[in-house]
Amino acid sequence: MKRYSGFNLVKNALNYNEHWQKVWRSPTPKERYDIIVVGGGGHGLATAYYLAKEHGITDIAVVEKGYLGGGNTGRNTTIIRSNYLWDEAAHLYELALKLWEGLSQELNYNVMFSQRGVLNLGHNLQDMRDIERRVNANRLNGIDGEVVSPRRIKEIAPLINISPNCRYPILGASWQPRGGVARHDAVAWGYARAADAMGVDILQQTEVTDISVKNGIVEGVETNKGFIRAQKIACVPAGNSGVVAGLAGLRLPVESRPLQALVSEPLKPCLDTVVMSNAVHGYVSQSDKGDLVIGAGVDGYNGYGQRGSFHVIEHTLQAICELFPAFSRVRMNRQWGGVVDTCPDACPIISKTSVEGLYFNCGWGTGGFKATPGSGFVFADTVANDRAHPLAKAFGLDRFNTGALIDEHGAAGVAH
Ligand SMILES: Cc1cc2nc3c(=O)[nH]c(=O)nc-3n(C[C@H](O)[C@H](O)[C@H](O)COP(=O)(O)OP(=O)(O)OC[C@H]3O[C@@H](n4cnc5c(N)ncnc54)[C@H](O)[C@@H]3O)c2cc1C
Repeated sequence: MKRYSGFNLVKNALNYNEHWQKVWRSPTPKERYDIIVVGGGGHGLATAYYLAKEHGITDIAVVEKGYLGGGNTGRNTTIIRSNYLWDEAAHLYELALKLWEGLSQELNYNVMFSQRGVLNLGHNLQDMRDIERRVNANRLNGIDGEVVSPRRIKEIAPLINISPNCRYPILGASWQPRGGVARHDAVAWGYARAADAMGVDILQQTEVTDISVKNGIVEGVETNKGFIRAQKIACVPAGNSGVVAGLAGLRLPVESRPLQALVSEPLKPCLDTVVMSNAVHGYVSQSDKGDLVIGAGVDGYNGYGQRGSFHVIEHTLQAICELFPAFSRVRMNRQWGGVVDTCPDACPIISKTSVEGLYFNCGWGTGGFKATPGSGFVFADTVANDRAHPLAKAFGLDRFNTGALIDEHGAAGVAH
């Protein structure tokens, strides 16, 4: 075993990354690829990984305008659960949850998936009816879930206030023990490393500025590093999906809005689960570092700024203090924002488009991190076979014409 003296530590600090092994290559873009994936977030990288692994297609470039995971993947609060109301959504998120359960082994990279459970609180009769309906629906779909009493909630999260005399008394909750959190960056890095090892080119700092379409068929993308041809273009640009679709002359039924989150100073372990409340409107978990990871809903206006309004922060923290009065003395360390693209039915778009060879995976809104492996898996299948994967069928663009929307606003609620 190599020993490090104080001198070596200083030397390594100054040499900083000289001996670090690169986790993925930084290749020069080729003139042509079979498939270009636009967007190097978790979903784009997972798509490239499953295209290579499940479909043997390795002539792929993932084109990312910034750095990997620098979009919502690296900005989210990492809540993972699959307890959605409608069968279509429940099956899709449950596929993702099953993939999460083996992901560190699959990628040989620790994504720190921690199944510490997720509580969705109910504060009034209607909340509890909705919770019971959702838990029943989940169980019929083979998804774990229970309706739990305030007493049981207190056992799971001892610092929570279950007094019946507060403004929003807690009447019960849905509890999904298999839900939890993961390490967001690691998910991007793990998929990137595994995709790169199979020959996928990851092109960072490469922005798609135009999508070339001729006679209704894609030809390639214009980028700040030149034109790149491709037979198929799979777009996974999250908060920028409307803009990227516009490059090909398409209009998507999405709105882009800021969504913010914040973390506190690190604390000793005090919360060993994820607590969410639609009515009080906030959610909180504790990271392995000890900080409280806190968020709420989107800011109420459209925009592409990766920041949010102060009054939303204030409202979010009021909600957290309402649930956990002890947290009123905790200082907040950092706040940031991402841009999320939301569909009218709070469900994603995983779809072919009217342009041949052009596919979109977007509209995950405030809750797409949990779907990352499942989303990549079904989108890769959709792109490889030029038809919707059975689990993606209901999420096609045609639902906005047929009216077959899958309304997940109830299960999305505070929406993560
Ligand atoms: C504050 C916050 C909290 C959240 N909390 C949760 C949560 O707890 N649980 C949950 O499930 N979800 C959560 N989400 C939602 C989740 O983060 C997203 O749904 C998910 O990460 C989307 O992943 P992605 O890979 O599609 O997007 P991204 O990671 O945003 O990747 C898209 C990439 O496309 C790139 N791109 C865009 N345009 C171009 C272009 N023209 N050329 C090249 N590249 C381009 C972007 O730079 C970006 O890196 C949260 C989001 C935010 C902002």
